[in-house]
This record gives sequence, C-alpha cells and structure tokens, in this order.
Amino acid sequence: MENLLNKIIDNNRHLIKNGALADYIPALLQANPNHMGICIMDIDGNVYKAGDYSEKFTIQSISKVMSLMQALIDNGEDYVFKKIDYEPTEEPFNTLFKLDFPHTIKPSNPMINSGAIVTTSLIKGEGEERFNRLLELIRRVAENPNISYNEEVYLSEKETGDKNRAMAYLMKSRGFIEGDVEDILDTYFKQCSIEVTTVDMAKIGLFIANRYRLSKEDKPICNAKIASILTAIMATCGMYNFSGEYAATVGIPSKSGVGGGILGTIPYKMGIGIFSPALDQYGNSIAGYGIMKDLSKELNLNIF
Ligand code: GLU
Repeated sequence: MENLLNKIIDNNRHLIKNGALADYIPALLQANPNHMGICIMDIDGNVYKAGDYSEKFTIQSISKVMSLMQALIDNGEDYVFKKIDYEPTEEPFNTLFKLDFPHTIKPSNPMINSGAIVTTSLIKGEGEERFNRLLELIRRVAENPNISYNEEVYLSEKETGDKNRAMAYLMKSRGFIEGDVEDILDTYFKQCSIEVTTVDMAKIGLFIANRYRLSKEDKPICNAKIASILTAIMATCGMYNFSGEYAATVGIPSKSGVGGGILGTIPYKMGIGIFSPALDQYGNSIAGYGIMKDLSKELNLNIF
C-alpha cells in the first residue's frame, strides 16, 4: 500500500506548478509548495502514510465540518438549518453577493464562509469558551491533545479578514447572527488557524466514517443523524464551487481548505488526509485533487 501511495504522489507532483499558494492570507505564503503527504486509516485499524504526512498545516475551511458538528450538537438540526441552507452553490467560498438581495436569502450552506460564520456563532459559549470547546472537540476526535492554533496565521487572518467581517455584519443586520460579531469572527479566524497533519485529518475522516465512534470509545459521541448530515454536506458542498465535478470524478465525501488540506470520509470504511498547499482556481489543493482521483480509482473508493 505504501508503494502505491508513493507512486500516486509522484504521478501528481507535476500538477504543483499549475497551482499557487493562497496569498490573500499573507502568512499562508510561508508554506513550502513542494510538500505532499497522505495518510489513510481504515475501519480495521490499518494506517498507511506516505510523503510529508507529518507536516503541519492550517486546517482552514476543513474546520467548517467540525464547527457544523458542534453547532448541531449544541442546537439540533432544525435550529441550525433555520439560519443556513443545505444547498451547493456556484458562487466562490467567500462570496457575500446573495446575502444582500432585497428578499432575504440564507447563506447557501455551512461549507462556505458565510454559512460557516453562522455555524461558529451557534457554538455555545462566550468569548474564548466558544473556540476552546471547538478545539477540544477537534483534539478529542483526532485523538491528539497537542493540536493547537498558529498564532501568526490567526493574526494574519484577523488583519486581512475584512470581507469576512463585511459578510458577518451583513448577516447580523439580516438576523442570521446573534451576539457580538467581533467575538464570533475571532473564533472563526482562530478555528481556521488550527494546525493539523494528514494523520489528524485521517482520524477525523475515520471518526465520521465510523458514525462518530472514537477508536477507544464504544459509544458514539453524538447521534448518527449528525454523521449522515455532515457526510452529505461534504459530498455536495465540500469542495467549493467545484463540488459537483469533484463528486463525479472522485466520489469521496471531502472537505478542502486553503491551507492545502483535503479531508475525505468513506462511510463505514476509512478516513483520508491529504496535504499539498498549491491551490487551483477554486481554492482546492491542485495536486490533492489529482491524488484523490487516483486513490479513488486504484482503491475503488467512489461511493456513487
Ligand atoms: N480562513 C479562510 C477564510 O475565511 C478559510 C477559507 C478556506 O479555507 O476556504 O477566508
């Protein structure tokens, strides 16, 4: 298996030159574009790793899966989806365009920035507590108590996050957000700056695949309905406005982030973590997409 993973990495290395690091968050430009790593964990306990699998990167939008999970645990599905929709969108991840239509429209889904800022606002807690609860959930699910956030990336996001700020205030004026907007944004910027490796990602993917069971605990930490919602939303909305083509060509429920990570989950089977920081025009890891396509084909993982 490791030989296959190394071969897949080598086959996709050439794609890096067609991508670029995210530059709208200046601290992300410090990433090494040549890093490529994979980790796979299956339900039988096998772990396979290749390349720069232990390299740290910021979780970015992949945190949206976990903030949705926490928001659902805290409020239930009905309440959460009163504030955001379930629908894929052809708009880019950081759009605020439809939020200002004369008739009020909910943020399309929780995997784009507007919807994710709403889900973050729905996590119970004041100030730091909201972030700490989310961080604890991620540590618990990834079974890694050392996970923390990157202060430099956090400050860089905060300094350059005016578009997120604009959409958050717009959403408050339209009744989708309650509470202190700066406080909520602070949690959002920090959650995007949480540092993980492909191993942490694979663990999270496996946890979702395993219907919310941790490897050491028998009892699910939340109900199975939440796992099916998360998996469905990852499959339909997880790869920005490329989610349809990704579903058709890869067929693995996934979520990407502009730090270059991709989290994959295959129900009842496995979790996948991939890292390669050069991005395509949609904000997805360009080589990560190639790797996922090859993995899906070679290991017959397409769920559709
Ligand atoms: N922190 C990033 C932002 O809000 C996350 C974007 C992403 O990974 O899609 O712009």
